[in-house]
Amino acid sequence: MVDSHCHLYDDKIADNAKEIIDNFSNDNIDFVIIPSCDYDSQVKAFNLAQQYDKVYCALAVHPHDAKNYNQQTQDYIINNSTNDKVVAIGEFGFDYFYNLSPFEKQIEVAEKHFDMCNKCDLPAIFHIRDGAPNTVEHYDAYNDFFYLARLYPLKRNGVLHCFGGDKDKAKKALDMGFYISFTCNATYQSNEHLREAIRYIPLDRLLIETDSPYMSPRHQRNIPNQPKNVKYVAELMSELKGVDIQTIYNQTTANAKSLFYKIKC
Ligand SMILES: [Zn+2]
Ligand SMILES: [Zn+2]
Repeated sequence: MVDSHCHLYDDKIADNAKEIIDNFSNDNIDFVIIPSCDYDSQVKAFNLAQQYDKVYCALAVHPHDAKNYNQQTQDYIINNSTNDKVVAIGEFGFDYFYNLSPFEKQIEVAEKHFDMCNKCDLPAIFHIRDGAPNTVEHYDAYNDFFYLARLYPLKRNGVLHCFGGDKDKAKKALDMGFYISFTCNATYQSNEHLREAIRYIPLDRLLIETDSPYMSPRHQRNIPNQPKNVKYVAELMSELKGVDIQTIYNQTTANAKSLFYKIKC
């Protein structure tokens, strides 16, 4: 199986990263993709990918950090995009929940990333999170995302990571050709809308991820998450789709390899 999104350099798990990666074979992990969020994490994700066979990375500036986007972050993405282990531009997009960067800045930086995806011939990993309705002027991040994605069609497609929308938003994303990825938060009791979306999305468009160290499984919410827990997302999918777990492993791995076409594992 594949963890298509984990932050192994994050302070909460960085000390155990080597041990976690060394255990991939025992844990049935074929490969993982480490996305980045700012200049520091770009360098860390890139270095881990160079060091370990089963580790790939994605380069970008997270919407939280859009305000710090600069020539250095952009050059790092473009200059390293041809490296064999750099398989996507990500994660980037819109986060109106925390609004850590002004929304105008988030839009401007997202536009630059759409452009870089095509310039670098790489797929996109999108982070999209709505704000609480009516608490901020701009809360519909998915709406802004769909608008920009229509304006800047991608040559190499993309995935909506840690999907938080409902079935209608999933339909829009599918109509535009995107893949949709789920974390363990789909197992949380309050997230029935995510389970409804999983039932609706065809198997050949689904990815699985942990977003480690965040989004820990339901029964371990106070422990930092790690890639082996991606099996809980697969188990949930198996249950909701009524197919055996091996089918979920095979299909989500095939989907990841098809989207992240540079991966030769
Ligand atoms: Zn994210
Ligand atoms: Zn992430």
